[in-house]
Amino acid sequence: MKIIRDKKTLQQTCLELKRSGKRIGFVPTMGALHKGHLSLVGIAQQHSDLVIASIFINPAQFAAHEDLDTYPRTEEADLAALKSKNVDIVYMPQVEDIYPEGFDLSISTGKLGQDLDGGPRPHFFDGVALVVTKLFMQTMPDVAVFGEKDFQQLTIIRLLALQLDMPIDIVGGETIREDDGLAFSSRNRYLTKNERKDSVNLSLQIKQCMKLLNNGISVNKASQETTANLLKLGFDKVDYIAIRDNGTLAEVTEIKQNKQYRILAAATIGKTRLIDNMLYEPK
Ligand code: AMP
Repeated sequence: MKIIRDKKTLQQTCLELKRSGKRIGFVPTMGALHKGHLSLVGIAQQHSDLVIASIFINPAQFAAHEDLDTYPRTEEADLAALKSKNVDIVYMPQVEDIYPEGFDLSISTGKLGQDLDGGPRPHFFDGVALVVTKLFMQTMPDVAVFGEKDFQQLTIIRLLALQLDMPIDIVGGETIREDDGLAFSSRNRYLTKNERKDSVNLSLQIKQCMKLLNNGISVNKASQETTANLLKLGFDKVDYIAIRDNGTLAEVTEIKQNKQYRILAAATIGKTRLIDNMLYEPK
């Protein structure tokens, strides 16, 4: 496994790989790797000749009050995990490789970027789109894999690739969960023992929301009831419980048979903000 820490070497390596006809698979991450990240590596391997994983904690997607400084950094364990999955190249750029001095370009992710997670974090998706675009230009992948765990992010990246005519297949990987249903996240390590116990209610309540909808409860009422349940079950704040169109994440007012929806949730427990989502097919 090759470890590359600068843009010049990476671009030169990728250019040579492309010229020799190799299909490059790419998995961008912010490190603190868990089974969710590693599952994406497996998917990338199925779609490519070799896989590049990147580890870069992107300052542009953190607001001043967020956890940029304390975001978990576990380089040694991350490299061992990627090696055990036969990753070919790990790219760990320096901040200057992504944002050289004087860099002042931005990408706007439009209306969807301000919706849901973009509400309390208005710069978040623009920051994600920018770093992903830069990483794409540097690694030149044929296919890039992103987790459904961050479903709004996956949807925005699909739109980004489509609207900017990027010749890259964007593939989604299913959300990998702990045995009790909590989605793996680098931030789960912030949870205290009691918070960890209560955190399972996020995925349970998304399922409960599906039951409410199947029983004919309206979209608004199902969202309100699920929010109230989470607040009773250990969560301190609920940013949203949203029932949306699965393809576009557009708002929906009523549920129709034979359509696919996505139920998305964001809620804070103690100091930790968790997100989750599931596909909903009405029964
Ligand atoms: P992050 O390091 O949090 O930026 O995540 C890097 C990639 O891993 C993103 O595409 C995430 O959607 C994905 N990911 C994070 N958690 C999971 C999970 N539990 N299951 C599947 N993919 C995940």
